[in-house]
Amino acid sequence: MPQALPPRDELRVSFEFFPPKSEKMEESLWMAVERLAPLQPSFVSVTYGAGGSTRERTHHTVKRILEETALVPAAHLTCVDASRAEIDAVVRQYHATGVRHFVALRGDSQAGVGARYAPHPEGYQSSAELVAGLKAVDPAIEVSVSAYPEKHPESPDFATDIDLLKRKVDNGACRAITQFFFDNDVYEKYVERVRRAGIYVPIVPGIAPIHDFTKISRFAEGCGATIPAWLAARFEGLEQDPQTHSHVAAAVCAEQVLDLADRGIRDFHFYTMNRADLVYSICHILGLRPAAAPSAEAESAAA
Ligand code: FAD
Repeated sequence: MPQALPPRDELRVSFEFFPPKSEKMEESLWMAVERLAPLQPSFVSVTYGAGGSTRERTHHTVKRILEETALVPAAHLTCVDASRAEIDAVVRQYHATGVRHFVALRGDSQAGVGARYAPHPEGYQSSAELVAGLKAVDPAIEVSVSAYPEKHPESPDFATDIDLLKRKVDNGACRAITQFFFDNDVYEKYVERVRRAGIYVPIVPGIAPIHDFTKISRFAEGCGATIPAWLAARFEGLEQDPQTHSHVAAAVCAEQVLDLADRGIRDFHFYTMNRADLVYSICHILGLRPAAAPSAEAESAAA
């Protein structure tokens, strides 16, 4: 059984969204933002299509979060298919609107699945260089980076992987957010390796609530995340049964985060897929409650 939950003031959650492609998707993103905002995340991040394919949409989403909510947005950025000057211009544009937190990534080749990544000749050659570039624009910028508990599929070994993480941290990253994983032992072992390499920033677990087991299994194959056999067994036969699928998904995710909390983890980054339902339930199980909306009296007293 899980031990007692950690006190609320020790827990920090963050939520990741992707920029919507249509008005309808924008509406559902916004419903998710409004539902999750009262849980007071430390920040909410917005992904970036490699090669800038979502540049405008990412920017629009980040700007709307800044202007219409009290949330702190973090803009994802990649090095793909862009010169340093182009990336720096995007950063300055964000900076001018008040964005001070970025998730700095290398990104993937735009040539399709399996294509080898080649840096732009005038671009940042790696995510570590991008971190340094962000810090050169403003040293106060907060930079998060990625980490891979099962190592990145392109990485020959853990040592190479962790060496790159070290360079990212040495260049100014203050937090790493992991690729999603389902085996907490794998995460814990990875964090031990990272600490042995002299990296002391938080390695925040990336938690993926399973909205669609078939889809996430396919996606996991591409990004080197393992789907354990016990997990596949839990979802077996639920392809046509969304209600049971959703209950099982909540149970599986609750089990994972409670076990991480038992192991002393206090920061959780949720891949929301722009949906609030599962994430909200899991946060509730973790002990998070919505902040009370300010009462009319409190508002008039403050006026
Ligand atoms: P890095 O950490 O820079 O490198 C990953 C690994 O690849 C390293 O371990 C390194 O050893 C190896 N490697 C790097 N360069 C080379 C090279 N030239 N040759 C051989 N090996 C190399 N993608 C998006 O497009 N947009 C997003 O918004 C986005 N957000 C993400 C957020 C998180 C938290 C995570 C975990 C991933 C995200 N991704 C996103 C996916 C990411 O872009 C891909 O996983 C990409 O393949 C690697 O980018 P990175 O910055 O994570 O890689």
